[in-house]
Amino acid sequence: MEKFDAVIVGGGIAGMQAALDLGDQGYKVLLLEKQASIGGTMIQLSKVFPTLDCASCITTPKMSAVSSHENITLWTLAEPKKIEPNGDRFKVTVFQKARYVNEKDCTGCGECEQACPVIIYDDGYDESLGPTKAVGVPFATAMPQKAVLHDDYCIFCGKCARACPTDAIDFTQRDKEIEVDAGTVILATGFLQTPTIKEEYGGGRFKNVITGKQMDRILAPTSPFGGVYRPGDGKIPDSIAFVQCAGSRDKSIGVPYCSAVCCMYAIKQATLLSAALPLADITIYYMDIRTFGKGHEEFYEQAKAMGVNFVRGKVAKIKEKEDGNLIVRVETFGEDGRIEEFEHDLVVLSLGLVPQWYPKGIVNVDIDETTKFIKLIKPMTDPTLTSMPGIFVAGTAGGPKDIVESIISGSAAAMKAAEWLNGKLRDAFFAKELDVKQVTN
Ligand SMILES: Cc1cc2nc3c(=O)[nH]c(=O)nc-3n(C[C@H](O)[C@H](O)[C@H](O)COP(=O)(O)OP(=O)(O)OC[C@H]3O[C@@H](n4cnc5c(N)ncnc54)[C@H](O)[C@@H]3O)c2cc1C
Ligand code: SF4
Ligand code: SF4
Repeated sequence: MEKFDAVIVGGGIAGMQAALDLGDQGYKVLLLEKQASIGGTMIQLSKVFPTLDCASCITTPKMSAVSSHENITLWTLAEPKKIEPNGDRFKVTVFQKARYVNEKDCTGCGECEQACPVIIYDDGYDESLGPTKAVGVPFATAMPQKAVLHDDYCIFCGKCARACPTDAIDFTQRDKEIEVDAGTVILATGFLQTPTIKEEYGGGRFKNVITGKQMDRILAPTSPFGGVYRPGDGKIPDSIAFVQCAGSRDKSIGVPYCSAVCCMYAIKQATLLSAALPLADITIYYMDIRTFGKGHEEFYEQAKAMGVNFVRGKVAKIKEKEDGNLIVRVETFGEDGRIEEFEHDLVVLSLGLVPQWYPKGIVNVDIDETTKFIKLIKPMTDPTLTSMPGIFVAGTAGGPKDIVESIISGSAAAMKAAEWLNGKLRDAFFAKELDVKQVTN
C-alpha cells in the first residue's frame, strides 16, 4: 500500500493551499480531485471581489505550483470511497475513474476534440453555456493539461483515437480502486450552488434566468459567448436584475442560513456589467446587503456611485414573457412597501452555497445539523477540527466562505495536520484516550 503523510480531498483553492503548505514543509501529500482538473470554482470566475483581480491569473500559478511540486502527488478523477482509522493512521480507499487517455502520452494538443462528432453542454467549466465535446482538455488552463474522454456521452466511433498523434487514447482503461495509507486527512470538498428548484423563479426552465456562476462565466475573459449576451437569443441585455437570497435564508428549500458571499459576488458582477454595458440598467433586489469583509463596504458604495440600482424587497415571483423578457414581482420593504412588477431582459439568481459532498458512509465525521456542511467541533477556537481526530476540514467544506477565508482555512488545516503528523496533537489525543480507558477500567 502506497504511504503518504497526508491525503487532501478536493483541489479547489482551499485544498491546493493546504497541499502547498504541507508540501513546502517536506510532508508527502496525495491530493485527490474528482474532476479532470484542479482549480475548483475559483478557476471558473471572472474577477474577484473586492480587488477585481483576474481570477484565472491568480489561480493558475497555484495550480501549476501544485502540479509540479516534488512533494505533492496529484490524482484527478479520484475521490475517496472509504476513509478508516488504521491504528494511529488512516486507510483511504480511492475510487479513480478511467480517463481513457494515457496521461504520459497526451500532449494536450486538442486534435481529439476537433475530431470528435459529439457536442455536449454539461455543467462543467462553462456551466452549460458553451459547447464542449465528449473528449478534450477540460479548459485552456486545466491542470493537468491532459484530455479526458467522457464515457457517458461517447459513442465510441474511434475518430479521436485515429486523430491523436501520440496514440494516447486508450479505450481499455477501466475505473479502479486503490488503497493508500495516510498519517492525516484534510477534507476540502467545497460547495455547490443551491439548485434552481424554486418554482416561483421558473424552476430552472427560463432561458434568460441564469445562475451567479453562469454570470461569472459570461463576464470572464474566457467567456463562452465572447461578451455579455443573454443565453435565450443572444441579445445584448439592456436591463439586468439580480435576485438576492435566491437560494439562501429560505427554510422552504432547506437552506435557512446566509451564504456569506452572494451579496458581494452580485455587487462584483453588477460593477463589471456597468463597465461592459455602460447604458444598461442594473438592479439588485435585496433583503439586506451584507458586506462585512475588508474593503467590502467601500466596494458596495462604489457600485452605488456607478449607478447600480439597489431595491430593498423580496422577489416573490418571476414570469417569462413570449419575447424571453422576465417580469419580476417584488414586495418592497419600508413604510411605502407594496407589490410592484418590473420588466428585465436578463435575471441573475444569486444562489447560495450548499455542501458539495456528504461524508456519510465514507468517513465518520459529524455534519452540522442546520447547514449540512462538515461540523466544526471548535468553530471559535480551532475552526479546522472535525469530530474525528486526525481529520481536518478546509475551506467551504466547513461552511460558506469567500476566497480569502478559504485560503486562510486551507493554511490553518495544513498547520493542524502538521501538528498531528509531528506527534504533538496526536500524542495529546492518544494520551487522553488512555486516561479515559484507565479511569473507566
Ligand atoms: C458565482 C460565485 C462567485 C464568487 N465570486 C467570488 C469572488 O469574487 N471573491 C471571493 O472571495 N469569493 C467568491 N466566491 C466564493 C468562492 O468561489 C469560494 O470561496 C471558493 O471557491 C471556495 O473554495 P473551496 O476550495 O473551499 O471550494 P471549491 O472551489 O468548491 O473546491 C472544492 C473542490 O473539491 C472537489 N471535490 C468535491 N468533492 C470531492 C470528492 N469527494 N473527492 C475529490 N474531490 C472533490 C471539487 O471538484 C472542487 O475542485 C464566489 C462564489 C460563487 C458561487
Ligand atoms: S489525447 Fe491525443 S489528440 Fe487528444 S489532446 Fe492528448 S495528445 Fe492530443
Ligand atoms: S470515440 Fe467518443 S470521444 Fe472519441 S471521437 Fe468518437 S464520440 Fe468522440
